[in-house]
Amino acid sequence: MRIGIGYDQHALVEGRPLVLGGVEIPHPRGLQGYSDADVLTHALIDALLGAAALGTIGEHFPDTDPRFAGVSSLVLLDETLRLLGEAGYRIVNVDSVITAQEPRLQPHLGKMARTLAAQLGVASSCVGVKATSPEALGALGRREGIAAQAVALVEAI
Ligand code: MG
Repeated sequence: MRIGIGYDQHALVEGRPLVLGGVEIPHPRGLQGYSDADVLTHALIDALLGAAALGTIGEHFPDTDPRFAGVSSLVLLDETLRLLGEAGYRIVNVDSVITAQEPRLQPHLGKMARTLAAQLGVASSCVGVKATSPEALGALGRREGIAAQAVALVEAI
């Protein structure tokens, strides 16, 4: 068994959809980034890569590669799963927390967990997705962006 940790944050800007855990959340602003800027999925990818010491999301999916422009991060997660399998690991469970002052994410957490579980090929009971408020502190509290952290437990196949 091995564990991995991942962290990501992106700026909130006008004119972009807000995608978290592969789910589009109705909100006037979205996250800025090269792909769909899905911070939750990005943190999860880094946790999975980290668990197998396979490097980082930036190494595997560089923002200089036109293939990844505007791509759904679920596609990147799919490729991560392939790399993980190739290295001889499968997922035991993952857990995560999103830090966002807005919007209120509670009503969407179940759908995010189900979407990620389906993509990962594991039961929904193996995927934790939580949200917390930065309590108006710092850049996240000023609604300048959204951050996410994830951990992943994997086992050798
Ligand atoms: Mg990112």
